[in-house]
Amino acid sequence: MLIKPKVIILHFNEMIDKLKQFFSTPKKVVTITHQNPDGDAVGSSLAMHHILIQMGHQVQVIVPNNFAEFLKYHEGVDDILQFDKNETTKLQTAEVIAAADCIVILDLNDLKRTGVIAQYIEASNAFKVLIDHHLEPQHFADYMLSDTTASSTAELIFRFAEQLGWQQYVNKTVAECIYMGILTDTGKFSHSVTQQLHETVGKLIEAGADVKKADIELFNNYSFGRMRFWGFCLGQKLKTISGLKAAILPLSIKEMHRFNVQKGFTEGLVNQGLAIKNIEVSIMLKEEHDKIKLSLRSKSDFSVNEMARTHFNGGGHKNASGGMLEIPLSEAIKKVESVLHLYDELK
Ligand code: 5GP
Ligand code: MN
Repeated sequence: MLIKPKVIILHFNEMIDKLKQFFSTPKKVVTITHQNPDGDAVGSSLAMHHILIQMGHQVQVIVPNNFAEFLKYHEGVDDILQFDKNETTKLQTAEVIAAADCIVILDLNDLKRTGVIAQYIEASNAFKVLIDHHLEPQHFADYMLSDTTASSTAELIFRFAEQLGWQQYVNKTVAECIYMGILTDTGKFSHSVTQQLHETVGKLIEAGADVKKADIELFNNYSFGRMRFWGFCLGQKLKTISGLKAAILPLSIKEMHRFNVQKGFTEGLVNQGLAIKNIEVSIMLKEEHDKIKLSLRSKSDFSVNEMARTHFNGGGHKNASGGMLEIPLSEAIKKVESVLHLYDELK
């Protein structure tokens, strides 16, 4: 059996000097992350932005589409270029990528996860840096820091900065951006937690990160509408599957309209299924206009990454993955239930 490496630091010894050299003169840098950016994607992008601008580089953070309001409490968030906002931003994205000396790709293992922006990145001759923690990364970058044991890409940004001797640029703003990525991707320190992670967090607090503020902004910041929507989901939509240690939560477009669901309303919702005793896997199915988006979560050793890759055209991490099905919601529910029945570990 082929053993897949957990840490891939491509050409590190030769690259570290090259990276230092490369960033020793002002460069035009673009950062890009995955569609539906989460706390780690946004935190990592902004952290990189704030490090590099202090060094005198020109930096444009790009996101493929919009993200949750509760992630927007950092400095620099208003300067983010949202690709799909309108025709002008689409053009701007293409132009800024074509003009870039360096593209920093964050929190994704496959360029497809940027959507149509992937074609601009592929066409560019810029120096490409990938920093990521997802399983089975594709090799498309000139420099890659991939550690699938890391809690988050944000944790790796800190490690990257340390390795390059850039610690002095990890100021309060950078530390708070990194902390947001760590806090959201670990589910408030409930998984992927290591001694090294806590040591990193110690250094972030030392750099000035206000952890209390992060907790309030990220977790105690629900609109009343979002809370009512969660009440509906937990009370009427979440169900356990008879004979299986599994919970599913299907949501139709109609239901989401009824509750005026905004970006970020469902963030963390799928994890609620796992809070039930003896439930090992929780799957949320969200209807979109042409597909069903799946969010999969598991406890302990069960790999939803394997399940998402094998059955749902997706992937991610062992305990948190995503996928999609291009069939109606009612069929998708049946498909998910039949896939769950394939796994003896869930009986
Ligand atoms: P979420 O359920 O929060 O959308 O995603 C959970 C994890 O799975 C994230 O780390 C995300 O990057 C990954 N993920 C989500 N959707 C997909 C997908 O369609 N393909 C792959 N490869 N990973 C995904
Ligand atoms: Mn991440």
